[in-house]
Amino acid sequence: MNVFICIDLGGTNIRGTWMDNSGNSGRIIVLARPKIQEGTREALAVIIEEISRDCPQSVKRVGLASAGPMDITRGVYLDPTNMPELKGFDLKSFITRDLGYELVLENDAQAAALGEVFRGCLAGRKDALVFTLGTGLGSGVIINQSIWRGRLPAGPELGHLYLGPGRKVRCGCGQTGCAETWLNASALMDLAINNKVNIKSLREFDAYLLKNDDRALKTMRQYGRRLGLYLSQVVSVFGITCIGLSGGLSRLGPYFTESAREVLAHRLNRRQWLIPDTICCSPDPEMSALWGMCALMIHDSGSMV
Ligand SMILES: [Zn+2]
Repeated sequence: MNVFICIDLGGTNIRGTWMDNSGNSGRIIVLARPKIQEGTREALAVIIEEISRDCPQSVKRVGLASAGPMDITRGVYLDPTNMPELKGFDLKSFITRDLGYELVLENDAQAAALGEVFRGCLAGRKDALVFTLGTGLGSGVIINQSIWRGRLPAGPELGHLYLGPGRKVRCGCGQTGCAETWLNASALMDLAINNKVNIKSLREFDAYLLKNDDRALKTMRQYGRRLGLYLSQVVSVFGITCIGLSGGLSRLGPYFTESAREVLAHRLNRRQWLIPDTICCSPDPEMSALWGMCALMIHDSGSMV
């Protein structure tokens, strides 16, 4: 049996566990990530040590998913938008030379996309477009159960498709009008506030939805229409009609997918074959990228760095 260490390194936390090729996994360990490079190294060393102690057998390979941009072939962070302190961090040397493990590296949204077709809401599907709705808008294009990258080492970045003017917030990429700025958590927060939902954070928003508050439900319909418009663009490009949603906002899927479907049906009414047959939400968004790293290592399809 092959056992792997799977890690998701995010802006706030480092999360990890062991998984094997029979579907078994260990307990999930979560550590706060210190916002300095040295602290991140220490936290990584601690979590890897703890997971390997937990493991039923010795393990030699670590799969790590993280927000980019990273140079996946060299194993080095470039200039991460939401983790500037990790610029230039040489993960490859750290994990392979200092800690003594083999390393497989992947962008977190792409790992999450693969994870959803491996063990998540799209288990068994061959082709899918999966979007991670959270602080940003991550994307993964899955073709034949593999991450499709086009001719780019890091694959397409569908969060930066232009979704029109009218939203002045600047995207992490430096532009305005990116889909990410229309569909991420702060976009939803702004919609809620515009609709006079009195919240300080999105966690408070759920309580309004549970009460069926009109303003909160209206916010969800508006968000769903934006998402539907966006999905009508991406399905037209890729011709893939199976859509998965992960990330923190996917928990709200039951409130917004219906409006997204209405817009899709309208936009694509003369091209019905492009209307998604499936739009589903991850059963556990915090596991998506970990499942994906496991899938990459089982199939030996991740690039070892
Ligand atoms: Zn952008």
